[in-house]
Amino acid sequence: MSEKLGPKDELKPKGLKGISDQQLEYHFETHYKGYVTKINEVWERLQTVDRSKANQNFSEYRALKVEESFNLMGVVLHELYFENIKDGKDSKPSAKLMKHLEKNFGSFEKWKDDFRACGIALRGWAVLIYDLSTGKLINNGLDAHNVYGFLNAIPLLVLDVYEHAYYADQGPKRLPYIEAFFENVNWNVVSKRLERALKVHKAI
Ligand code: FE
Repeated sequence: MSEKLGPKDELKPKGLKGISDQQLEYHFETHYKGYVTKINEVWERLQTVDRSKANQNFSEYRALKVEESFNLMGVVLHELYFENIKDGKDSKPSAKLMKHLEKNFGSFEKWKDDFRACGIALRGWAVLIYDLSTGKLINNGLDAHNVYGFLNAIPLLVLDVYEHAYYADQGPKRLPYIEAFFENVNWNVVSKRLERALKVHKAI
């Protein structure tokens, strides 16, 4: 893994409803870019780490593998999150996405209630995923970038609920931030992700 990752500046949202530009600036420039810097550092060190000293209690190799997972998922989840709130004004879920949400959750509102609860109950993320093993849509809650995420799944909608995502605007109040998030979702992006997930499911 020698090629360095660069930040995707084109994903930075601006002018959202209920989430200030200052809040987004801190989040994008400090937190997201911090993960980009650190995954490059981890990959650099993995090139030369002493694999003969690998140990499950403590070893440099173990520490690097744990932080590889934390930092790469930090990059990936933030990119998906920023992309799915950028330029979403007046967008609506596609008919196909609505059908899948209704089939899996009963109705759009029931899906939304569950996603909101997921965002309140978990410490890091709420992620609507398409599970390639079952073909189900599931709201996957994560306590950290690399804690409790389902494998063999494709993320469709990503919500960051870390304090750093809303404290500048809301202080400790997470719920108004989650409601603002719903107002800004770019459903065109989410609907396209479902299309891609369905194609992958068909192909495997
Ligand atoms: Fe974040």
